[in-house]
Amino acid sequence: MTIALIAHGGAGRWRPGSDDDATEGLRAAVEAGRAILAGGGRALDAVCATVVMLEDNPIFNAGTGAVLNFDGFCELDACVMESREARVGAVCGLQRVRNPVLVARKVMEETDHVMLTGDGAQRFARVMGFPDHDPVTPERRADWFDKRNRIDDVLGEHALKMRRFLKDHPEYAGGTVGAAAVDGQGVLAAATSTGGVTLKMVGRVGDSPFPGAGNYASPHVAASATGTGEFVLRSLATRAISERVEQGASLADAVAAVLGRMGEDFDADVGLIAVGRLGTPVALHRTKDMPHAFFSGAGAVVSRMRA
Ligand code: ASP
Repeated sequence: MTIALIAHGGAGRWRPGSDDDATEGLRAAVEAGRAILAGGGRALDAVCATVVMLEDNPIFNAGTGAVLNFDGFCELDACVMESREARVGAVCGLQRVRNPVLVARKVMEETDHVMLTGDGAQRFARVMGFPDHDPVTPERRADWFDKRNRIDDVLGEHALKMRRFLKDHPEYAGGTVGAAAVDGQGVLAAATSTGGVTLKMVGRVGDSPFPGAGNYASPHVAASATGTGEFVLRSLATRAISERVEQGASLADAVAAVLGRMGEDFDADVGLIAVGRLGTPVALHRTKDMPHAFFSGAGAVVSRMRA
């Protein structure tokens, strides 16, 4: 089997001047996943290692450096899924943990549940030995003050303007991370982690923790979505890719069709990455940027800002 892995750093408009930080961060994270796959390791371990590196990199909107919600703290969502037996674990609205993706994995491995939320997720994390960690960085805090000051009047007048505001300023979203891989045994896995969207309402959960929406692994496809999660939730985008491949479409055509449909239905500011059973990575997005990196087989890691 051909091993392969692809990772993204969020669909949106990347902050000017930081392109190289994003592509280099992704390259390093994909190299970490690649080392695991090349050594005969599992796709699940590879996507987790990749996403942990991205969560620990404060320029991405996941783990340390995640964006703040309207009230000024981080609520983190993450999901891991493996094609074998459709094993899946997720957390949403999780606070004060360094690597939400690893907590999601523990939900999968140590409980009979698929998803834990809020206080329950945090209590579980502590029981599993994840120590208290404040993911808020000074940069994100300053950013939050700035944006919060500018958006206050808009929000006060009419909540719908919040959606328009985010649409006009897609750089306020983006930075979510995700990875999809296939290992030497032909097992596929995907992992996705995010702080959600800036200034989201407390309690808002996006697409990232939901299997079939923001994150999915089947025997055909592993995929991760990014961008405004409400559109991804309404399209069940990653599951839709898998269904098209099951029906005979190539992976590239399936991803393009699902993204095209989200464009027609919602003019959605989203991006998708996927890898197929045969080890072909695909990345497509409707936003200006979506930093991503990938490798397949013995090929070198390619890292770039746009597909
Ligand atoms: N999809 C994520 C969410 O809506 C955000 C993102 O990918 O930028 O929570």
